[in-house]
Amino acid sequence: MATRTVSGHWDAVWDELDGDPDGEVNIAAEVMDRHVARGRGDHVALRWSGRRGDRVELTYEELLNACCRFAGVLRSLGARRGDRVFALCTRVPELYVGALATLRIGAVFSPLFSAFGPLPIIERMTIGEGRFLLTTAPLFRRKVAPILDDLPGLDHVLVLGDVGDLRHERVQVHDLRALLAEATPDTEPEPTHAEELALLHFTSGTTGTPKGAMHVHAAIAAHLNSARQALDLCPDDVFWCTADPGWVTGTSYGILGPLAVGCTMVVDEAEFDAARWYGILADERVTVWYTAPTAIRRLMRVGDGAREARALDTVRFVASVGEPLNPEAVVWGREHLGLTIHDNWWQTETGAIMIANRADAAVKPGSMGRPIDGIAAGVLRRDERGAIVLDDHDRPTECGIDEIGELAIRGSWPSRFRGYLGQEERYRACFVDDWYRSGDLARRDVDGYFWFVGRGDDLIKSAGHLIGPFEVESALIEHPAVAEAGVIGVPDETMGEVVKAFVSLAPGHDFDDALRRELMAHARRRLGPAVAPREIEHRTDLPTTRSGKIMRRVLRARELGLPEGDLSTMEGAEGATGGLR
Ligand code: ATP
Ligand code: MG
Repeated sequence: MATRTVSGHWDAVWDELDGDPDGEVNIAAEVMDRHVARGRGDHVALRWSGRRGDRVELTYEELLNACCRFAGVLRSLGARRGDRVFALCTRVPELYVGALATLRIGAVFSPLFSAFGPLPIIERMTIGEGRFLLTTAPLFRRKVAPILDDLPGLDHVLVLGDVGDLRHERVQVHDLRALLAEATPDTEPEPTHAEELALLHFTSGTTGTPKGAMHVHAAIAAHLNSARQALDLCPDDVFWCTADPGWVTGTSYGILGPLAVGCTMVVDEAEFDAARWYGILADERVTVWYTAPTAIRRLMRVGDGAREARALDTVRFVASVGEPLNPEAVVWGREHLGLTIHDNWWQTETGAIMIANRADAAVKPGSMGRPIDGIAAGVLRRDERGAIVLDDHDRPTECGIDEIGELAIRGSWPSRFRGYLGQEERYRACFVDDWYRSGDLARRDVDGYFWFVGRGDDLIKSAGHLIGPFEVESALIEHPAVAEAGVIGVPDETMGEVVKAFVSLAPGHDFDDALRRELMAHARRRLGPAVAPREIEHRTDLPTTRSGKIMRRVLRARELGLPEGDLSTMEGAEGATGGLR
């Protein structure tokens, strides 16, 4: 069979959609109206479980109707195409309906993580020029009301729940349920252009200040394509993506991808809890599960006690994203869950999964897999200073087999970001020739599998060796006493840098000198003396982003007594940003 070209592949994806990549596309119409028009209106789209056991189930037709009502509310308040609608919400059904209604009327949806404090909210809503804000009554009272004066572009707040008698002289505060009850449904989707701004996603801030990545309506083709290829989704699946829509994963795959496929999507309002999660997998009869390495590591740490015997009977495919999936986690999945966890790689900027371990290919534990159809990925050679090495024709040079370089994606694809809002220079710096530079370092093996080495900034240079923190962390968490590990380079006069590790421990273990020596010996055995850490310290908790990524820059800053930088996305650091509180 002849291989399809990259553009030929996308032509085939577009054939299935109603929209035209050179003309009109509306994401919301693709994920709802299209299914209803094809007779699948009765299929369940959303199955929601509340924190207190309450449940909501909406078919595609019901979701569409709810969305038209919400769109009617937005219209009645004067929302126009291009307006920015932010959400600061827990995972309530209205968040999902509101996101789709926003897209349907041609406005731009920008989710915020509900745990953000005032400063990160102000920062993002100012950059994004938020005119509307969707929130819940408790969040409104605690976080939004005190900062209304700091949001000069904000005109309307739609509050879910009792707004009380709070009034503001400029910003209109509405009771969303009352407006929905009176709304005249707005039935026609806006004929948005494929290249029109649809989503504004802020990056996780793992390495620095968050950037607002701009995505267009055409992106839905990539959500559909990747949901099928990388997550193996079919219309009959029951899919659970555990990510919060405050992060790109929770929107691309917690809303858009599964709905584009036409399957049933499970949403849980509550936070991580091992027993609850196993219960959801069993009770909702989940077939495909998309989660993060940090959640898997937490399940590993809790042990099998939390799991009912039947928990994973229906699950046929598990995937993970956001951080490197340690080989140990893949082995654990096979042994304890009877399932292979499929790692995949992408970023806020790529908008959709780029590289994946697909259901139909062998998994090499520790590898992110291979580029999915429609995506051309490569590893570009970098010089000492991190610039891409160009050939005589000024074109980037690709690395050889197993040579470490910068992971890059060639050409364009529908969900590629179209800019960082307000930071044109920073955006342009991401491209060299026709390649998008991811900023991550990787290598490609002889079978075409990609292996994550580290973020460009996290790489350690020790006595002439380039060491990726991930391989050191993975070796450490193989040890039964280690729950999580974070590895950094600290300056050293003779070696340039030396490797230093921070570990948190699994329950039932205490950090003492004997354990430290045992861990050192284990790491040396697994990695060799040049790569093994010189020092290992214990931390009760490692600094992570709220989406569960280890923030090595914070470990490094603390170690070296440097400013910690933007902490707004850090777990447990509500509202902190730039060291302010
Ligand atoms: P910022 O860009 O603000 O520092 P961030 O890069 O963490 O934050 P995201 O776009 O949410 O923001 O995360 C994408 C990054 O997560 C990737 O560039 C990569 O470093 C990491 N990542 C994602 N998936 C994987 C994976 N499967 N293996 C290793 N790393 C991954
Ligand atoms: Mg990034």
